[in-house]
Order: sequence, then C-alpha cells, then structure tokens
Amino acid sequence: NIMSGNHVSFLQNVYLAADVYAACLQHALTTEKEEVMGLLIGEVDRENAASHIMACIILHRSDKQPDRVEISPEQLCEATIYADKLAQKLNRPLQVLGWYHSHPHITVCPSHIDLRTQSTYQTLDQLFVGLIFSVYASDSGSVNNKVELICFQARGNDNSLHRREIPLTIKPCQLNTHNLRAITDLPNILMKEVLDISNTINDTGDEFAKLHNNALKTLQQTEIASTVTLPMCDFLELRLNSVTTRLRELELLKEQLKAQVDLMSR
Ligand code: ZN
Repeated sequence: NIMSGNHVSFLQNVYLAADVYAACLQHALTTEKEEVMGLLIGEVDRENAASHIMACIILHRSDKQPDRVEISPEQLCEATIYADKLAQKLNRPLQVLGWYHSHPHITVCPSHIDLRTQSTYQTLDQLFVGLIFSVYASDSGSVNNKVELICFQARGNDNSLHRREIPLTIKPCQLNTHNLRAITDLPNILMKEVLDISNTINDTGDEFAKLHNNALKTLQQTEIASTVTLPMCDFLELRLNSVTTRLRELELLKEQLKAQVDLMSR
C-alpha cells in the first residue's frame, strides 16, 4: 500500500543541516579500516513525508567486526533520551528519525544487510531513513579521496529487498552548540573504544602480552590525537579567527551607521 490515511508511506524528501553533515562526515573519515555508525535526530513532517535532520549521535562501537553495523536496544534508548532532551531545549518535536554509517573503500550502495536493517526500522517507523557515506574510495588516476553520500529507504519484501533513493538537500546553517559538541566529543569516543578493548585484553595475566598491548594502546591513542584531535583543533581555531574578524567588521559597520544616523538626526 502506497497511501496510509492521508500520508504517503515512504519518504519524499530529506533535509540535512550542514553542521550535522559535517559531524557525520568527520566521523566517517576517522577510519578507513572499519565502518562507523550513528543515529540521526530531527523533525518528521508526516504531511509532506519529509524529514529534517538537525542532530546526530555518534555511536560507540562495542563490536568491531567488519560489516557489522548493528544498533543495540540500549543505544537506541540512549538516543531517544538525547532526542527528548534536545527537543525540550530547542522546543521542537524532535525524534530519532534515521541512521548513518560509513563505507570505507567501497561504493555507497547499501549491502543486503544494510537493506535488511533499514527494512526492520521501517516497520517501526515507515519514514525512517538511512544515510551511507562512502569514503576513501579513490578514482583510478586521482590522488584525491572521493566522498559520496546516499539517502535511501528499503522497498520490497524480505525475499527481494531493493533500495529507494530519496532526494537529499543539505541546508546551510550556523554551527549549533549541540552539533559542535557532537564533533568535539568524537576523540573521546574513539579513545574510549581503544581503552575498552585494551582493558578486556589485559584481563589475562600474561606480562608480555600486557606490555605489548599497552604499547599498542599508546600507539592507537597517539594516532587518534594526530589524525583527529589536532586537525579538529586547527579547524576550530581557523573558524574562531574568521568569526572574530567578521565580528570586528560588523562592529565597525555598526559604528559607521550610528554616526550616519547621528548626522541625519541633527
Ligand atoms: Zn553498509
């Protein structure tokens, strides 16, 4: 059935806030070795079957198997609590409305597992949406990394699932506090993943194994600091500088306009 009541049962349009796009993409770019994932939060316009994505949650991965992008019920519950808090703060009807994950070195096409996962979410909410970021897929003859993004839903039944591509618009916006926090939290989440794995391994009593694992842990932490934290600090500092400059320009303009008004009112 295509129509249920007055509402269309699949998405027509998805609008993604630019700062959420930046946060998701940054998350996707943190590793080319494994898939990363998160949940999307925003407003669903059921009348027009459109979704407005306004925030995201970067998920901590407990299971580091390749091609295992499953969301645990606990994570979904945490995301719902976060969405409720944000909804109160922004005074908007926000909810968890989708998920995203990365495809390092492969195309944006959703795998069969992706389509099955997506289809399961659609049984809970038929407007649930999936985003896939393809990263580190290099064109032959080019040194640049190619980034591709797909917005999709699943259609068909379990025996033959297909993807339905949804038109996606990235909406310009300012860097919102909650999304800035999502971006700056990323190094902490990555560090926690390293520590969690290292702690479980170090439960075995072997001293040489401990020594080796601690060295590996330090190496991984250094890598996070140099590839994620430092570039992020540089970027945020640049942004601060440009905002400060713009602020000064506007202050100057304000003074000039004030002077003009003074002259005119004399
Ligand atoms: Zn996938």
